[in-house]
Amino acid sequence: MESIIRLQQGFSQVFGDADGLTVVRAPGRVNLIGEHTDYNDGFVFPMAINFDIVMGGRRRSDQQVRIYSLDYQRTVEFSLSEPITYDDQEQWSNYLRGVLWAVQRAGIDLGGMEIAFFGTIPQGSGLSSSAALEVATAVLVQRLCGWTLPPRELALLCQKAENDFVGMKCGIMDQFISVLGQKDHALFIDCRTLDYERIPLELGEYRILVCHSGVKHSLVDSAYNRRRQECETGVRILATEYPTVKALRDADLTMLAACRDRMEPVVYKRCHHVIAENARVIKSIKALKAGDLVAFGQFLNQSHASLRDDYEVSCPEVDLLVELAGQLDGVLGARITGGGFGGCTVNLIHAGAVEAFNERVVRVYQEKTGIEAQVYISTAANGAEILN
Ligand code: ADP
Ligand code: MG
Repeated sequence: MESIIRLQQGFSQVFGDADGLTVVRAPGRVNLIGEHTDYNDGFVFPMAINFDIVMGGRRRSDQQVRIYSLDYQRTVEFSLSEPITYDDQEQWSNYLRGVLWAVQRAGIDLGGMEIAFFGTIPQGSGLSSSAALEVATAVLVQRLCGWTLPPRELALLCQKAENDFVGMKCGIMDQFISVLGQKDHALFIDCRTLDYERIPLELGEYRILVCHSGVKHSLVDSAYNRRRQECETGVRILATEYPTVKALRDADLTMLAACRDRMEPVVYKRCHHVIAENARVIKSIKALKAGDLVAFGQFLNQSHASLRDDYEVSCPEVDLLVELAGQLDGVLGARITGGGFGGCTVNLIHAGAVEAFNERVVRVYQEKTGIEAQVYISTAANGAEILN
């Protein structure tokens, strides 16, 4: 396989040879529907994509860890005989350090190792290259050091690395799908119970097209925290009327309507998005199981409108991409995916319309914004696996 060869070449440049190398991959993901529902104990529906982190490594007889990033052409080195600390200089290394740190905290013994990796997932665009990097590290180190965790536990360990070592308070979705994805399937996840179901993605002539807007607005972190607080406020108000409501997951639109006059309009809108979005995930899965791609596409469109108007996490550039896509024959649905304020759209598009997408969405977008959007046709890929 091409990626193994590339990895071996990079590895041996830095570490002398590539003897005894174990090579793994872990994918990024696109969330098809269920946005900003994860931290509300709700439902999400991502698929792993055919863009991934490829990582190889082998044990050393001492306590040294050496890591080489092929993409950045940078190396870090540290000793396991001292506590693993955050690296301000080589930020990329913290995702790997964080996983090793979380493994140690789980009481598992590590030994020294040499690791090299590269990735094909666009970084910082909401396709979760960070989770893929963590999951690849966990799967590799698991194999090298001879322990195993069940998939769910492995995902939680990687989430812990990102939450508590890197310092990004993400939900569980990204690590979960990177571990548990399956070719030609999307993954329904209940973020409260962590129960999951693999749903066949039988798209026939249709494709999942991911379009990167090329923008990332700086609002993301503060706006994300504010949204979380607004949801919590909504839950408090709902719970006074309906004590069984512990999270927005437990409420429906009738309950919300009954509490509307006690809520600030903005809190009402946020709650409305989350409650309706959870319902859309369930309806989307029903539609897919019934082979009704038209209905699935409509839920994607509704999700976008809700994220734009009620949750207010879109931005003019992404709205433009979605609007242009909506005007194209052969596009059944389009919406923003990921945390918001930029990043990517996900489109359900007929294979025969992909060329027209480049012509009438990407080109017009460039004319209007000056930005060149990137298009990725994504198939549903396997979760993390050992390649050799
Ligand atoms: P996202 O997860 O949406 O892609 P993040 O900001 O959470 O965005 O993670 C991106 C970071 O992950 C990068 O800034 C880098 O530190 C690290 N990373 C991802 N892919 C690679 C790679 N191929 N090589 C080195 N570091 C990477
Ligand atoms: Mg990330």
